[in-house]
Amino acid sequence: MSAVIYLDNNATTRVAPEVVEVMLPYFSELYGNPSSMHTFGGQVGEAIVRARTRIAGLLGADPEELIFTSCGTESDSTALLSAIRANPGKRHLITTRVEHPAVKNLAENLQAFTGHKYRVTQLGVDGDGQLDLAEYERAFAEDTALVSVMWANNETGVLFPVLEMAEIARSRGVLFHTDAVQAVGKVPMNLQASAIDFLAMSGHKLHAPKGVGVLYVKKGTPFTPFLIGGHQEKGRRGGTENTAAVIGLGKACELAAARMTVENARVRLLRDKLEQGLLAAIPNSLRNGHPANRLPNTSNISFEYVEGEAILLHLNALGVCASSGSACTSGSLEPSHVMRAMGVPFTAAHGSIRFSLSSYNTEDEIDFVLAHLPPIIEKLRGMSPFWHNRPQGV
Ligand SMILES: *Cc1c(COP(=O)(O)O)cnc(C)c1O
Repeated sequence: MSAVIYLDNNATTRVAPEVVEVMLPYFSELYGNPSSMHTFGGQVGEAIVRARTRIAGLLGADPEELIFTSCGTESDSTALLSAIRANPGKRHLITTRVEHPAVKNLAENLQAFTGHKYRVTQLGVDGDGQLDLAEYERAFAEDTALVSVMWANNETGVLFPVLEMAEIARSRGVLFHTDAVQAVGKVPMNLQASAIDFLAMSGHKLHAPKGVGVLYVKKGTPFTPFLIGGHQEKGRRGGTENTAAVIGLGKACELAAARMTVENARVRLLRDKLEQGLLAAIPNSLRNGHPANRLPNTSNISFEYVEGEAILLHLNALGVCASSGSACTSGSLEPSHVMRAMGVPFTAAHGSIRFSLSSYNTEDEIDFVLAHLPPIIEKLRGMSPFWHNRPQGV
């Protein structure tokens, strides 16, 4: 067993060795600028063309519909600001309460970015983390400029019906963006056959390096660049391409396309073994998120009456990497916005832990966590006044 058991793949992933290998020459002998007129740079440009084609293959997109960016966050920002500029008279956005900060914080701060007053409708979720399509239909207004709904939630893995939601937006003449950073590589996609106008993805969530993202913009969708500069990306995003990372992302997408079906099944088995084992071994533990309608790699479990941070520290001491849904805000531990939106009770939200797997995890690693986590929870509860004073027999 390796020194670290990495169960935090929704935060970032290991760069696949095959990806590292294709990248290496572009740091050393193939350092040309892909925009140069000479053959030395031009061969790098050709490698970028091949990468773009591979990424488009995974997404079911035309290569021309892809714009390379620096990260998922840049892709989200570019999509939102572009849609808003395309609709200068419209002042309303629809999104959800459980978006990643890349969308949530931008939507909440649009006034600062644009100098105009925007209304933002944040759709709620039920106890399983699912949206209500009737609420969505009711949310549209005359001046709705854009809908932005994530494809898969990073904390629970819950999947949203974005294909159907994009059709509804299109029928109302409203642009539709999806933050698919967690879904790309795990969910089969055919964007050309969909009504999705914009899609954001990020390299480091699918075994490519950090510092590269992609924005998909459907052919014919109005677009305004976010970074204005050189003619790169057909004038849609200035700045010399992160060539090695782009080429690595092409390889990662090719691997994901080839392995998705097999790896999803294998990872799901490991995830289910971990989740069912923990729920069975630990009393007062609860799964957060719909049991079936979610990514195969993600499990979010609440251990009632214990602090998530304390659990993480104990896991960390054993070399196990996971994450908690709470963020330390102004000295007090606030449960995550996702747990709050789902109505997870305070006593459970505080002890929520996200385990997110990848195809690099092994059954031995899962067995290790199953052997070591139950006694940790028992020990923490032994020290917890909340556990001793909990309501009994209800
Ligand atoms: C990680 C993540 C992002 C941000 O991607 P970066 O490349 O780190 O900027 C956006 N949305 C979701 C759902 C994510 O999980």
